[in-house]
Formats: sequence, C-alpha cells, structure tokens
Amino acid sequence: MRVRFYNIVVVVAVASVGCAGAGSRDLEPPGTQEAVATITASDAERHLAFLASDALRGRATPSPGLDTAVAYLSRELASFGLSPGVGDTSYVQRYPYPLVRLTPEQSRLEIRGPGGAVLGRPGVDFAVSPGRTPRIAGRVRGVAAPAAAADGGSDPPPAVAAALPGATGTPSWLQARDRNVREAALRNAAAVIHVVDAATSSDLIRDVTAAVSRPARLFGGLAPLAEVFVTGALLESALGRSIPAGELDSLLGTVPVEIELAVPAEHMDQAEGVNAVALYRGADPLLSNTYVVVTAHVDHLGVGEPVNGDSIYNGADDDASGVTALLEVAQAFTALPSPPRRSVIFIAVSGEEAGLLGSRWFLEHSPVPVDSIVADLNLDMVGRNGPDSLALIGGEFSSLGRVVRDVAGDVENLGLVVTGDRWPEEQFFFRSDHFNFVTRGIPAVFVFAGVHEDYHQPSDEPDRVDADKVARVARLAFHTVLRVANSPDRPEWSAQGREVLRSLGR
Ligand SMILES: [Zn+2]
Repeated sequence: MRVRFYNIVVVVAVASVGCAGAGSRDLEPPGTQEAVATITASDAERHLAFLASDALRGRATPSPGLDTAVAYLSRELASFGLSPGVGDTSYVQRYPYPLVRLTPEQSRLEIRGPGGAVLGRPGVDFAVSPGRTPRIAGRVRGVAAPAAAADGGSDPPPAVAAALPGATGTPSWLQARDRNVREAALRNAAAVIHVVDAATSSDLIRDVTAAVSRPARLFGGLAPLAEVFVTGALLESALGRSIPAGELDSLLGTVPVEIELAVPAEHMDQAEGVNAVALYRGADPLLSNTYVVVTAHVDHLGVGEPVNGDSIYNGADDDASGVTALLEVAQAFTALPSPPRRSVIFIAVSGEEAGLLGSRWFLEHSPVPVDSIVADLNLDMVGRNGPDSLALIGGEFSSLGRVVRDVAGDVENLGLVVTGDRWPEEQFFFRSDHFNFVTRGIPAVFVFAGVHEDYHQPSDEPDRVDADKVARVARLAFHTVLRVANSPDRPEWSAQGREVLRSLGR
C-alpha cells in the first residue's frame, strides 16, 4: 500500500445502505461449501513462502523478481482452469515503464556572492530533488521578495531560499518545508532552496541523493519545482559572513547571491510493468457480459536501505497476503459446479507502490468495457494484526460494504470481525488499487487488516503473516464476490459514496 499523498478529508460514519438481498446467502448455489473448502491455510502458506521469498528480491516494479512472481501467478491461474485475461492467450498485461535515472553525483551547484564563488559537493553540501527545469541560474531571493503578479510576473526569481531548521521529518520540519515550497511556488520560482543545518541534516542530504539516483519511473513528469537542500555553511562561505538566525530573508533582500544548478538525467531503457489477469466467464447469457473484479498488488519495494543488515523488502503482508487470497478465491470459483451469472476477473497488479500504476493502466487498457465492471474488491495487507481483526475501507460508500458485512455475519467459522475504517486520518481510501476503480465510478471496497511495525520494512517476512487468517479472508472474499456475481442487481453507490464521487469531480 502506498504511502499517503492526498489532501482530501472524509468524515467516516459506518451506515448500512443498498438494496436488500444483494448480500443474501440465497445467492449461493449448491456446491458452494465444497468449493470454499478448497481454500486452505496450507495453500496460503505455500503461495506466501514463494511470493515473499528473498529469491524474488522484494518484487520491485520493474524487476526480474516481479516477472518471476507474475509468471508463477499465470501458471497457477491457468492450472485452476481460468481463461487468459489478455487477449485469448496471455495472462500477462504489460505496460510501459520508462525509467530515468538522475545522476545527482554529476549534479553541479555553484553559489556566487560577496564571499566569492563556491562549488558544493553533491551528497555532502547539497542534495537536489529535481524539478522540471534541468538548468537553473540567476539571483536567489528570499520569501520576503514580492509574490509573482497574477500574470506570472515578468521576472520570476529562478530560486527562492528559506531556512529549514530542526530535525528532519519532525512535524515542524515538515510544515516549514511545505511553507518554503509554497512560497517559492507563489513566486513562480524554478527551485526552492532549503537552507539546512549541516549538523542535523547530513543524513537527509545523503538520503535524498541516494533516493534520486535510483532508477525511477517518471509518471506525470517531474515536480514543477526543484527542491534543493543546501547546508548553511555552504551559503555562508558564498556570502563571506555568517547568517544570524531569522536573518536570511533580509540578507537575500540586500546582498546579491546567484546560483547555477544543473542535475543531469540519464534516460534508461524502456522497461515494462506487468499485471497478471485471468477471467472466469459467467454462465448467464446477459449478465456474463458484466464483471466483478478482484484486485491485489504483486509488487513491493524491492531492495533498499538495509535494516539490521537485511535490504530485501519482502512485502509478505504487503501484499503477498492479498495476492495469495486472490489465488485462493480464483481456485475456489473453478471448484463450483457451475460458474456464477456474472463473470469474474482476477488481477494481480504491479506498480502499486509507485503510484497505483498497474491498476491505472488496466483501466486505461481494459480488455472489457469499463462500464461493464460492476464492482472491485481489493485485498491489500490482510495477514496481520490478530486472528480476527479486519477493516473494510470504503464500505459505507456503496452496497458492496453491506454484502461483505452480511457474509461476515452469516458464514460460519470465518472468525473475522469486520469494522469500518478505524484510521480515517491515514486516508487509506486513497492509497490502494481500488481507488482507481472508484475514480471510474465503479463501486469498490478495500479489505485491509491494518499497518504494523513491519510495514514497508525488510522485516515484513512470510513467517510473520497469519496464513490461516489469509485463508479466512479469502473465504470472506469468495462468498462476497459469489453473491455479487449472482445478484441481478449491480452494487450501488450510497449517498456518502456519491458525495465522494462529486469531490473527485465525477
Ligand atoms: Zn500494499
């Protein structure tokens, strides 16, 4: 699941909505018990152990480990008897993933002032998170400089500098950083220069430089504004004097300081992201042309910063657990005596950690008409936090939530307590693949067991995931999808759900 990035606050109240009966057990044909019995903890353990093994090196998008995981999924889905989801022959949907590697080690920062011209050492004296302007040169202004006129002003400053005091990542630091960025944007600057204290920021400068040098996909292009972190010491040597606290602005207002900044970029090969897609065709002549979708993400963070000597981010719970549940649901469907009325599509997407990319691509290049997709049930991080706790994110926004709760209430031995979203401030509703379906007006819910101390850590290992819980979540998902797939009624948005759609401009 992605780290937080949206600023929309939604007041959450768990209310029951939707058409009666959609969640009813009557929608389960004979043979359902036998089919659901194929979902086992031992199967779940086997899938988890493979998908989250060190051998797959954390399944970054793109990577050989991810390709191996998707090949494994394709084999499993084919072995269950599901149809290829991409054309008539393939279970693998590929999407372009152009990689660019910025070479901060070759970046160049020169500051000229009364103290002379000084050259910064990349990763030591400064770090750059590049923006759209590859070369920035000219006078540096403070935030006291007048904001740009409505017409953008004839002479926007190339860069605006402001102090960024305190320890990295603290609330006050984050606020100050946001304020600096906002002030620079207000003046149409091409870069904001955060003047940091070398003592508290050496890790920051090193970490930003390391992060920027990792090959990355540029979806949506670079940020409009470059963020430059410069030590106060470097600026002082260009000024030829110390900067008393709180006086940087007035100094920049009177003392001419110029910069020249360049961050070269290396455009790497055209890599590819991969989604695994399988179809279970429905039986009803009409309703089989509508689809219930099950999603989970097969990618994770790959190899990164070592923690206790371990640099493989296995992503066992995030989200090998959801993919495992998806596989088990798919297998159970093929164990039914006959298919449900609607068709079911199983999608193990990638690119989730990089911005929900695989699910976005799927919807932009869907093998079926998007308006024939009636629902999405997304499974992400379902294997931790106690044997029975489960949250339904977005359950109040459509009748889909009611179906899940009905299943949790009337299926024996599930042993799951399904609550609403217990962490609205974390905005989980925006942070996993169901959200792309929501933006297309498709009712979608996110089944989630909560974050934990191993979230996005190398320690998110398979032996810490409760395989029995994953199997029970898979049974919950199976019954839910079966009922929706057999219901004559499409899931509907609630009044709250329509409010959300409106706030998303739909
Ligand atoms: Zn995840």
